[in-house]
Amino acid sequence: MTAVICRFCGGSAGSFVLDLGLLPSTGVGRTEPVGAELRVDVRLWLCAECGLVQLPMVAGGADVAGPAAFPDPGVASEVVAWLMANSEPPDTGMVLEIPGPGGRSWSQVLAGRSLRPVTDPAAAADIVIDARFALMCAADQRHALLARARRLRSRGLLVLHFPSLAALLARRRWDQVRPGVNAYYSIPAVVEMLARVGLTARAAQEFPEHGTAAVIAGRTEEEDDSVSRGAERHLRVGVRSVEAYGELQSAVDNETAALRACLKDYEFGEVYGYGVTPRAVALLNRAGLSQSDLAAVVDPSATSRLRRVPGTSIPVVDVAALTRARPRAVVAFGAELLPQARRAASSIEASGGTWLTTTPAGPPEGARR
Ligand SMILES: [Zn+2]
Repeated sequence: MTAVICRFCGGSAGSFVLDLGLLPSTGVGRTEPVGAELRVDVRLWLCAECGLVQLPMVAGGADVAGPAAFPDPGVASEVVAWLMANSEPPDTGMVLEIPGPGGRSWSQVLAGRSLRPVTDPAAAADIVIDARFALMCAADQRHALLARARRLRSRGLLVLHFPSLAALLARRRWDQVRPGVNAYYSIPAVVEMLARVGLTARAAQEFPEHGTAAVIAGRTEEEDDSVSRGAERHLRVGVRSVEAYGELQSAVDNETAALRACLKDYEFGEVYGYGVTPRAVALLNRAGLSQSDLAAVVDPSATSRLRRVPGTSIPVVDVAALTRARPRAVVAFGAELLPQARRAASSIEASGGTWLTTTPAGPPEGARR
């Protein structure tokens, strides 16, 4: 087996904890011919030394670039309010916001503080913010975190806001694991990483509605008990336990099997899919499905330019095409899509069609512990 090297600490002791198989590296959004897409082995690896969960960097292997765009978590004002309440940042000073592939700039939210953006590419800042998923996509995690630490003035604060690995694990959101997203942070792993670049995590906070967490760090000895409480909570969920990821693997295996089961009673052309999401792309590729299994997948987004589901021959169509086709069944990729799908294509049931899902319908998962 090829050795894995941790993207942060360089260690090679660790375990693979999730295997999604070969997925198109482009995720959602490209239109290359079938078979022309780069496929990557999407597996999560837990470093036994620093605790960072990551897509492994394989010795001598090419890295994967180009993450899909992230949705805006819509939580900037909440995180900024927490930052202001917990860290006594300066009313005036320089702020550096690291650009990234998702989310909106915090500049408007911070504008009332008289903080000025850093424009000199080498200048230091009083506050450095990484809240747009840039750090988690960095190939070299240590280099990226050091680069942020070096931009801090002596009493400066580094703010990291990131999707929470504990939330991913508790809600079994395996679909958040994607090619090009190289690191998946828990509070204890972030605390460890910060310590190894000479910073102390001063405060930590979770934003459960959004499935994210944030940590404030600086060159200080101060640490409030929100850090240890947050780390303990994440450890209880099992972020450093190989066994805890077994349920995540079961969730994706079960959902792939459920998709195959949805299709088995229907003939060619009778079933459509709903929602060209990263989850749908992963499931359709894992199940090895083609247009002979699923007539088309509906993309409700009017702005989509997709011609087919990445990695497959399955065409992408709009809601109007679905309505005209009057299929016997439509599969929503995840029960949470059902209400939206039913509203968008309300004639399906009226014309005798059935809605199916790849996960059991019911309240959202997340209350496991
Ligand atoms: Zn490590």
